[in-house]
Amino acid sequence: MEKWDLIIIGAGAAGLAAGIYASRSGLKTLVLEEKLAGGAASDAPLVENYPGFIQISGAELAEKMVSHCKKTGVVIHDLEAVTTLDLKSEPKKVKTLRSEYAATAVIIATGAHYREIGVKGEKEFRGRGVSYCGVCDGPFFKGKKVVVAGGGNTACATALYLSNLVAEVLIVHRRDAFRAEEVLVRDLKSKGNVKIFWNTEIQEIKGDRTVKSVVLRNAKTTAISEVAVDGVFVQIGESANSALAKEGGVELDETGSIKIDMHQRTNLSGVYAAGDVTNYPVKQIGAAVGQGITAALEAYAYIKRPYYRK
Ligand code: NAP
Repeated sequence: MEKWDLIIIGAGAAGLAAGIYASRSGLKTLVLEEKLAGGAASDAPLVENYPGFIQISGAELAEKMVSHCKKTGVVIHDLEAVTTLDLKSEPKKVKTLRSEYAATAVIIATGAHYREIGVKGEKEFRGRGVSYCGVCDGPFFKGKKVVVAGGGNTACATALYLSNLVAEVLIVHRRDAFRAEEVLVRDLKSKGNVKIFWNTEIQEIKGDRTVKSVVLRNAKTTAISEVAVDGVFVQIGESANSALAKEGGVELDETGSIKIDMHQRTNLSGVYAAGDVTNYPVKQIGAAVGQGITAALEAYAYIKRPYYRK
């Protein structure tokens, strides 16, 4: 069994930042990623609030983080999903679809997945008009009419991105105000091809081979209407990817996020968590980077027990 000082699960902003700090501290570090390294940041149309970059696409920022991490000597295994964690043994055991590894410490940085609205037609038309990623699927809807569900930063950023590609964007939000940053809302309202449906929810997604329409319900008037659209972008927040951690004995909060203290420690000794999988309230690339750094330095102290910590 390959033995590592530190195994980081997840190669998003948190995992990559942790990797950079761990490797530079001298830890033999492996990052396991079930998809391709880069994480959720890769899906962001445009990042305008990561210090040092006035404007950068999420994909480019993620790519820079991945190559930086590799340059420091971290080994990243893409497309290697972790299947089981034994986090209470010494060393800890991490089993994947391909192999089994041992590590003195583990950082869980598995991120989050997009929430579903849970209406009729959503599952049926997923990949056939229903999408959770504007950057990935937006180009398929060039010149068409799409609806974006949600009222947070993700929904507004996606709507803005799509407004430059498609003929018309409808935003359906269940309340009468967005919770997104002012700058995004201002830009969105200046777009001539964006229409906002306040106090409205999608009740059903209809179609034949692909999406053809959405049924909307206005919460105030209870009026029901059916609007013809070609695509539906569901952008209503995230839920932590914490099932694996839970099976390994890591404690979660009531929303399913990993409970951490200010040192990114979980309830298990030598096990840390960072980024969107945790219950840290700020979900930002910069915040994930900060958590990854803290987790790596704490893992270093746990593994090496340097003289100044004794
Ligand atoms: P979010 O901030 O949690 O917002 C989710 C939105 O979806 C809210 O407007 C919410 O409505 C609505 N919603 C939730 N459940 C719903 C349901 N079942 N049906 C209909 N609408 C529903 O999620 P997010 O926008 O994905 O952002 C996630 C995190 O990433 C946030 O912390 C955000 O700040 C961050 N983020 C930041 C940036 C940036 O800095 N530019 C970009 C993307 C994401 P209510 O408003 O009524 O609750």
